[in-house]
Amino acid sequence: MEDQIILLGTKGGPAVRQDGAMPTASLLQMDGQNIVIDCGIGLTRSIVDAGVKLLDIDVIFITHLHSDHLLELGPLIYTIWTTGLTRKIPIYGPIGIQEYWDGFMQSMDYDHSIRIADDGRDPLHDMVEVHVFGEGAIAEIEGIRVSSLRVDHPPITECYALRFDGAKASAVFSADTCYFPPLAEFSKGADVLVHEAMLEAGIQSILDRTPGASSLEQHLRASHTMAPDAGKIARDAEVGLLALHHLIPADDPAFNDSHWHEAVQQFWSGELLVGKDGMKIPLSRS
Ligand SMILES: [Zn+2]
Ligand SMILES: [Zn+2]
Repeated sequence: MEDQIILLGTKGGPAVRQDGAMPTASLLQMDGQNIVIDCGIGLTRSIVDAGVKLLDIDVIFITHLHSDHLLELGPLIYTIWTTGLTRKIPIYGPIGIQEYWDGFMQSMDYDHSIRIADDGRDPLHDMVEVHVFGEGAIAEIEGIRVSSLRVDHPPITECYALRFDGAKASAVFSADTCYFPPLAEFSKGADVLVHEAMLEAGIQSILDRTPGASSLEQHLRASHTMAPDAGKIARDAEVGLLALHHLIPADDPAFNDSHWHEAVQQFWSGELLVGKDGMKIPLSRS
């Protein structure tokens, strides 16, 4: 298996629209491991559509507990279980992840009991290991060093960028954050930086299409990164490639790749990819 990232869902925010991208989820294939980063709704389907077997998922990381990154975590693991899970699957997430998982399992108690009695399955409780992480070196997955950096995503304080250093390559996921210069040092020399991004010109149309969210503009501006600033992080980190995801807007026909390129190019002249659901990004930059 070649080291690569598969972008499963590339839109920012929880809304799902006709023909639009799906909320945030990514799959990192590194040193033979299948690592899921964030679980926006739709990712179970997207993993299968990408040609990856659900039973081959090794570990799951959640950057923060916003629903556009979390909503399908339980359903994904539950579907892996009903597909034939027979080994442990670790989940890494910030404070609150254990409560999410316990609540999800409680909600499935009826079906879970039936499947144990009727199908002869081992309880899913025994197969999932929940690890709560903060900032620092948080895990080693078959030799892959995983570290985290607390980023700036108010009002959520437990939101972490993730860095994966494998035998042959390294990748960083920004999580959701406003422009956060320490992310450049954290991402230093990575082969690929997957960074969230927002287009200034697209904000108004999002507000027009999102009724009932009176402080949405304030949240967007305080908690997310304008595309040129994502370029600045990539430049200062000297990464091999910048891939934009968690796009705001992601499904507005008024904006296409050229708008994103134009916004980023004043600070970043290296390789740039504008994320699309299903996009595969090789990690070897030779
Ligand atoms: Zn988000
Ligand atoms: Zn968020």
